[in-house]
Order: sequence, then structure tokens, then C-alpha cells
Amino acid sequence: MRITDSRYDRDRLRLTVACRLIRHEARTHTIRQCTGLSGDRIRKLYRAYMQDAIEQPLRRRRGKSPRQMSYFRRSPAHELQAATLGMLLSLCGLLGRRRVLRQPTIEEVARFCDVYETFESLCPVAVITLEHAWYLLQVLAYEDEFVLARCPDCQATWIRDTLDVVPDNCAACRVGRPPD
Ligand SMILES: [Zn+2]
Repeated sequence: MRITDSRYDRDRLRLTVACRLIRHEARTHTIRQCTGLSGDRIRKLYRAYMQDAIEQPLRRRRGKSPRQMSYFRRSPAHELQAATLGMLLSLCGLLGRRRVLRQPTIEEVARFCDVYETFESLCPVAVITLEHAWYLLQVLAYEDEFVLARCPDCQATWIRDTLDVVPDNCAACRVGRPPD
């Protein structure tokens, strides 16, 4: 009985998390990777969600998920928001464990949704989608080319490209710096 209850709870959590991902316009591939649900089940959920959300229609994102870190360097806003998100991911224990990348537990994905929704409340004009946030998590978790670091000038957290010599400080310092 306890096993049945536990399975039921986990399945319900899986569906709840999938609905949160759908609401954030995640791609089917990402939802499948995050929840383990089949593509068919996700499509049914998506249709049910659309019927209930006539007032706020979703854009169905198709194609490949983001795979370019250059996205986070498009503007100072992109850089600062990526750093904020990176800090939240770190504070919530989602960085530093590579296992999260390939086979995240449903609890970890739920925590990732918590992080993303916290980020949205901190940055109401968010330029980083949930898909980009998921990609950022994967890149930062490797602690290879891109790492969370302290800005040498203002000590704020920023994302440093370990293969690039410049920029050598955060976007906020660069924006505030007078021209040479
Ligand atoms: Zn700085």
C-alpha cells in the first residue's frame, strides 16, 4: 500500500513538474529529459493545458534547444541576468553535481523550476527563457569553460569565460567604466 502511494505521489509530482515546464514554454525534448514522461503523454498534457489556458495562450517552441553561451553575452542585461540565475542555481545546490545533467531526479527538476520562478520574480523583464536556464545549468555544472566567479573590481558574482582574457570584470563594472 505504501509503495502504491509512493508511486502515485511520484507520478503526480512528475505531472505537476511537466505542467510547470509547459507553462514556461519548454520544448518536448527538455520535458522528456527532465520528467521521464513519454512524448505522447507530454503532448496530451500540453493539449489539456492549452484548453485550460485560453486566456494566456502559450507559444509552442520547436526546434533545437539553446546551445550557445554567446547568448548570455548579447547585452549587459543578458550577462547580469545569467549571473543572477547562476548564483540562484548554486545557492539551491544544483551546481557541483554532474549527475544532475543527464538523469536529474524529479525533485531536482522541481527545484530547478523553483529557481527559475524565483529568478523571474527578481527579473520581471527576464531575457533568459527556461530553456536557456536549463542550458546554463548544464554548462556551469561542468565547471570547465564557464565558471561562476567573483568580479575582481566589485566582488559581485559573474560568469567568467576561462578561455578568454577579456572581459576581465563583470558587466556592471564595464557599463559603469568611463571610456579609455
Ligand atoms: Zn564588477
